[in-house]
This record gives sequence, C-alpha cells and structure tokens, in this order.
Amino acid sequence: MKKCPICNENIPHRKKHLKTEHPEEYQIRYGTKFKLEGIDISDISQKLAHYLKKIMIKSARPIKISKVKEQDISGMKAAFCFNDRDHSKIRIEINQTISLKSPEGVHSLAHEATHGYLIYSKGYYAPFKFHLLRKVDGDSISLIGGMIDDIVVNCILQKEGFPVISEFYFPMVKDEINAAHTERDVYREFSYDPKFKFRFIVYRIVYAWGIQKFIKITKEKQKILENFRKIYEKKYPKHIEIADKICKKIQDNDIFTPEGHKYITQSILNLWKLDHLVELKSYK
Ligand SMILES: [Zn+2]
Ligand SMILES: [Zn+2]
Repeated sequence: MKKCPICNENIPHRKKHLKTEHPEEYQIRYGTKFKLEGIDISDISQKLAHYLKKIMIKSARPIKISKVKEQDISGMKAAFCFNDRDHSKIRIEINQTISLKSPEGVHSLAHEATHGYLIYSKGYYAPFKFHLLRKVDGDSISLIGGMIDDIVVNCILQKEGFPVISEFYFPMVKDEINAAHTERDVYREFSYDPKFKFRFIVYRIVYAWGIQKFIKITKEKQKILENFRKIYEKKYPKHIEIADKICKKIQDNDIFTPEGHKYITQSILNLWKLDHLVELKSYK
C-alpha cells in the first residue's frame, strides 16, 4: 500500500486520493490552471517546480520568468518585478548567466517567487506610488522592501528547504570588511546620491542582523557577521544608530504577519520621509 504524502495514510491510488482529499495538492501535481511562462518546467528541478506551482495556485496567478542581461537588472542577479498597476502575473527577472538548476538559480527563483507569494497570497502590503518617483526615492523604497520583506522571504525559504542565502552575499560581506580596514569605498556604485548611500549602508547592517537573528548559519559565517558588525560600529556609528532603531522596530512587532510587517515598513517610510510618496496597499 502507498502512503499519502500529505496525510500519511495508506492509500491504494495516490492520484484519486489526492483529487478527492487534497484538491490543492492535486492541482499542484497534475493541474494545468496556471502555466509557468518564459521557461520550460523541465528547465528547473522537481522540487522547485512543485514550489512554484504551489505559489501560482495560492496566488491565483501565473509566474513569468525572463532571462535578462546583467545591465537590465542593474547589476543584480535576479529581481521580483513588482508593478503596482498591473498585478496579473508574478514577474521575475533572472540574469541569463545563472544556470536555473544551479544552487544560485534555485535560490534566486524560489526567493523572488516568494516575494510574489507574500503579496498575492499572504496579503502582505506593498507600496502604491502616487506618481512617478525620482530615482533616489524609488530606489530607497525598493531598499526598504529588500530590508524588511527579505527577512520573511528568507525564513520561508529556510522552512521549505531551499538555499536561503545567495552565494554572492558572504563574498560581498568579506569585501565590505576589507574595504572598511583599507578606507576603500566599496559602495561607489550606490554613491550617486549621499542620502541613498547612507540608506544603503543602513540596509547592509540590518540585513546582516536579520541573517544572524533568523537564519541558521555555520559558526564560521556567524564570525564573519560579527566582524562586520564590529568594524561597522567603528566606521559607521551614525548608520549603526539608525539600523539599530529599525532592528528594534522589527523585534517589537510581528514581522511575520501582514499587519506587523506593514507597521514596520510604514515606520521606516516615515523615518526617511518617503511616506507622502506611497501608500501601503494590500493586493491580495
Ligand atoms: Zn492524504
Ligand atoms: Zn528579496
């Protein structure tokens, strides 16, 4: 007798049993309601395909994946392309040099799709822009998303058994530590506006804190983040002060609920005087 993967009961026919007892799981495994667009389902691992199908069903939207050149996503490896006026799809862009079956490819697709899952299925709030934004304001608002939403996304990936941290993260932290020792400006490309550069450094500090607090990592990696924190306390005391305020907000509110997450995000929008540009909305 087979065992049901969901309720663990002995069953003679898995497909029939899933269809009647667990219709959502049946949809994920055999359904065709939402198609993965842009790539072939055989281009990715079975585990990732199952996860993306689950997100499409729970979010009631297709996922569209576009392979793009590096410069099209401004140096990033992958991005969740949120459009506050068009919510018909979960759109993901991934750097074409990343193989979809590599650990980085799996991490990137699972990570970006989970951003869509939070907004369209779990009811997390996202910014609605009142009008076109200046680059520094738009980038700052995206940065807040990266800082706050990624904590929730990372915890979901950890629970689902996907690679949580990009393989580019720790090399970057090591580079930041080295740069701090040698006075080299590691944030040159984020320096087009001093305000944005300040915020970007705050983001890096909060991000590292979030990894230390919520994600299981090796002792060696913990040590790297401790060193990062120590040298940044010396080099960037003003940034540390703001970052600690944000970390406290995260700690005092439940970031793992849409309302707590909204409260935290709103308080950073207020802190950075961006609150007149956007409204946090539910898109579920
Ligand atoms: Zn069952
Ligand atoms: Zn993210």
